Amino acid sequence: MSKEQQHHEQFMYMQYHYEQLGLSLKSIKLPTSKVYIYGISIGILLAMLCHFGFDFYTGNNRQHMYFGDYLENSIIGSIAISFVFPLVAIFLLIIAHELLHALSFHILVGGKWRDNAYLGFSTSLFCPYCWLKKPAKKAVIIISVLCPIIVLGFGLFTLSLVLYNRTVLALAFVNIVGSGGDILYVFLLLRHKSKLVLDDPTGLGFVLVQ
Ligand SMILES: [Zn+2]
Repeated sequence: MSKEQQHHEQFMYMQYHYEQLGLSLKSIKLPTSKVYIYGISIGILLAMLCHFGFDFYTGNNRQHMYFGDYLENSIIGSIAISFVFPLVAIFLLIIAHELLHALSFHILVGGKWRDNAYLGFSTSLFCPYCWLKKPAKKAVIIISVLCPIIVLGFGLFTLSLVLYNRTVLALAFVNIVGSGGDILYVFLLLRHKSKLVLDDPTGLGFVLVQ
């Protein structure tokens, strides 16, 4: 059985356990197609707003907004900027993004790392994911879900304004567009009341424990 399947079973078992305790459960989950369409739309909209903000703030008249001249003026430098840099940056940002979900959750709930979160690649959803294994208060889940967009999305966006640097802005975009699903998750969560929330490892959703 794959790790992903093991987690799905663990998730089912936890729900069964709560039901045995007499608690009521409510599952909220979005279909994958909606997650991609809404998530990417929200992400692109936010990135466009940040782009507008950047141009407005910098006045769009600064030089050296990209890499230094020494890289842009050489063939190897251009290849590195056009191909190698974006791929490496996106790869590292995805890892950092998922790690921030897990790390913030781990700090907030305490205990052992392996009991708190799992980072992996979902073959069924075809994307990297982080499962917050423990049920937690709504606020804890919201902070953990929003942590990457705050640190890597808006953090890098702020840095791009300070440095007047479009490369840093592009890195912020990668994270903002990639965090659309996270924002969708929080929207969904804010619409429901619950004592405890259990993250759903099978897709974008959660189980409310009353
Ligand atoms: Zn995320």
